[in-house]
Amino acid sequence: MNDAVEHDLECTGLSKHFGSVRAVDDVSFRIPKGSFFSILGPSGCGKTTLMRMIAGFENPSDGDIHIKGRSVLNIPPNRRNVKMVFQHLALFPMMNVFENIAYGLRCAGTPKSEIPQKVNDVLERIALPDVGNREIHQLSGGQKQRIAIARCMVLDPDVLLLDEPLGALDLKLREAMKIELKLLQHQFNTTFIYITHDQSEALVMSDNVAVMNEGRFEQVGKPEELYHKPATSFVAGFVGDSNRWAGKVEQISDGVAKVATEAGLSILCKPQAGVEKGAPVSIFVRPEFIAAQRAGEAGPPDANSNALAGKVDSVLFNGANSRILVRGPSSELIEADVVVTGGTSDLRPGDAVQLNWAPEQAMCYAR
Ligand code: ATP
Repeated sequence: MNDAVEHDLECTGLSKHFGSVRAVDDVSFRIPKGSFFSILGPSGCGKTTLMRMIAGFENPSDGDIHIKGRSVLNIPPNRRNVKMVFQHLALFPMMNVFENIAYGLRCAGTPKSEIPQKVNDVLERIALPDVGNREIHQLSGGQKQRIAIARCMVLDPDVLLLDEPLGALDLKLREAMKIELKLLQHQFNTTFIYITHDQSEALVMSDNVAVMNEGRFEQVGKPEELYHKPATSFVAGFVGDSNRWAGKVEQISDGVAKVATEAGLSILCKPQAGVEKGAPVSIFVRPEFIAAQRAGEAGPPDANSNALAGKVDSVLFNGANSRILVRGPSSELIEADVVVTGGTSDLRPGDAVQLNWAPEQAMCYAR
């Protein structure tokens, strides 16, 4: 089997430089057929530039782009069979829904007799079979999103690019649309490439996520891998919530590093590749891996684990779990999640607690 065509998109050594700015810097990745792939990164990391190169609006400074096994470098945007949904959706306000969807088919030279069937089919598939005659202003925000996607999908693209399409929606609709987009991608079985700076969107929807920073991919992986096995300190800090400490490695033995933090704590942690004795490091611990017990109820600290004494600063109710903020011995705030029993945590601000976490839950990266 030809490996290349098992991937809808493959980029190799792709770069884009604007003068001295390396907007995209030697990026290589492949996206398996029919999957949901997100590019996640902070503002200015190069997401849009990468997307524009895939769509053909920007010429790479270096590297190649293959779509369905064929280089598209010399193919103009309108002949790439890549479609794009923008944040502002760009629906035509003067046309009804049917005409919005039919527009691309007419431009592509689809025989007039086939257009109604194709438009109605795609409206069925997005579960809005009866809105063809509606004006755009008569649609809800979520319906407009679906019509924007239908307008692309009716043209049967190889790849659909989505540039932060949920950015303009209110929080509740955004939550609903996350699930909806994932279902739509599954339904069409077409590769969606979704760019976002919102890690919760990327984690919920994607089969694979690329975390981008300063023009480069830091890690590409499944959401679970990024969360539980971040490859770099940037990924550990950008994906999910973490407590962080900066410090220096005092010793490493049996795969456990002992770090003296800048705030004067001693923390046992799991050294990642490149961490050596004497090296400056960053430590990340997820709140859910920290157990909080009332001081009197906690056993004696275990010398092979981490135990910190602190005082509850605040309790943030969050349904099944509550998050507590604990003032640690060097008066930093440490976040821990406590499971709620009987509707609320019995910890109160001012309570003395002991925080415990295992060394393997403290990820330690060279700085
Ligand atoms: P955002 O999420 O804010 O849209 P982004 O991750 O999409 O950001 P890009 O828009 O791709 O980032 O920009 C990456 C870098 O390239 C930035 O430093 C930006 O200023 C620079 N850049 C982008 N387009 C150009 C251009 N046409 N000329 C010069 N510099 C540019």
